[in-house]
Amino acid sequence: MDIQELITKSSSEQRKALLNKEVSSEELVNEIYKKVETVDKEIGAYNSLTKDFAIETARNVDEKIRKGEELPPLAGIPLALKDNINLKGYSTTASSKILANFVSPYDATVTKKLKSNMIPIIGKANLDEFAMGSSNENSAFKIVRNPWNLKKVPGGSSGGSAAAVAAGEATFALGSDTGGSIRLPASYCGLVGLKPTYGRVSRYGLIAFASSLDQIGPITRTVEDAALLLNAIAGHDEKDSTSLNMTPPDFTQGIHNDLKGVKIGYIKELCSEGLSDDVAKAIQSSIEKYKSMGAEIVEISLPLIKYSIAVYYIIATAEASSNLARFDGVKYGYRTKNPENLYDMYVKTRAEGFGDEVKRRIMLGTYALSSGYYDAYYKKAQQLRRLIKQDFDTAFSKVDVLISPTCPHTAFDIGSKVEDPLSMYLTDIATITANLAGIPAMNIPIGLDSDRMPIGLQLQANSLNETKLLNVAFKLEEAVQFNYSIPSMSLV
Ligand code: GLN
Repeated sequence: MDIQELITKSSSEQRKALLNKEVSSEELVNEIYKKVETVDKEIGAYNSLTKDFAIETARNVDEKIRKGEELPPLAGIPLALKDNINLKGYSTTASSKILANFVSPYDATVTKKLKSNMIPIIGKANLDEFAMGSSNENSAFKIVRNPWNLKKVPGGSSGGSAAAVAAGEATFALGSDTGGSIRLPASYCGLVGLKPTYGRVSRYGLIAFASSLDQIGPITRTVEDAALLLNAIAGHDEKDSTSLNMTPPDFTQGIHNDLKGVKIGYIKELCSEGLSDDVAKAIQSSIEKYKSMGAEIVEISLPLIKYSIAVYYIIATAEASSNLARFDGVKYGYRTKNPENLYDMYVKTRAEGFGDEVKRRIMLGTYALSSGYYDAYYKKAQQLRRLIKQDFDTAFSKVDVLISPTCPHTAFDIGSKVEDPLSMYLTDIATITANLAGIPAMNIPIGLDSDRMPIGLQLQANSLNETKLLNVAFKLEEAVQFNYSIPSMSLV
């Protein structure tokens, strides 16, 4: 296989080539940078490149191979890191003007783990500002285009991470998911995206959006790669007080198991109304495939889903308004020029530094938390969150895994929803409940629609059940045979 083709493959294929000395990690990394140079002007996946870091890591990997030393499973495989995760000595912007010149003074815990796994980080991937959005049109720097069709959005907020992988500008990526930001872009770009159980992966060094919902997770070309990358980043971290104090399992264990007797519930409320015809057909055909593998399929009703968008946009904005209070022009980041006094400095710094969507969220969240409204909005939202979690508990007493579309439709045209925040928020209808409940959820590609845009299936499992989730995903991936290699872009 030539190297141009190799960079479009999974980590296991690249690892084979590395170990057989058909290619070096440095060559792989250089080939990826060539790709970035040719396509990223159009795609916009990266905010910045971390070339010296990537090359140095690759050289260390090659040295170990030369010496015949043992390598971590993902050593030498190029990764895109979402630009809201700190990498010491490099810029971390969260795609916001307020952090445009910020250089990370420390590594996030996941970044440390990537380093100890010898994974070369190619660059910092573009995102919606502070991870707020569903289309990656809210980046303060540039939009990201979907490699499957440059007129379409890649999904958000981890749009840069997903587009980089789909376009061959990285083998896999890390994203963050507060309400769907890993799964939605994975769905729109024909990739696997996994949001782990809340607390599975440390949030230390991830720029906080909504701390009770945020999780870091993998965006990959295959289910096995998602399991491998989760192995690399999961585990207890005393620097994150919400980190689960338990040793994670090997997530690749059992992914090949057959599905006889496995119970799969399709979510009635997400599988009936409002789906595009192509999405509905693809979901139906996945259900048939599961049946033929011996899984038992049942209908599950989660009636509270209809409240989930309202609940999420109160809780997420409330937490965001509090988390973003730290950007005040004093400690770090952007500061307005020539303020009249201290108050003026705060006001102008934030007015100039934040984009419209971020300001909208800060205002919404501040309102929901203010005295007099707290009980009416925030407290109610928290109570509903508990009921939504209970609905999931009941569902998982009946089935192992829940399935639904990841989104009722495929990627939409750039510009078609930016003026209408509510219709943008509705794209999250299927994904946000997993964050509210803290459960693991993933996207896998199951086909293309009539415009040749990828369709995604969402799988959800009970807390800590990632291995079952990955198993059920892997078997469908095998049956669907989705071609995850680079779509034929109108590029190059
Ligand atoms: N689209 C959702 C939002 O804008 C989810 C974002 C995310 O998961 N980071 O809040």
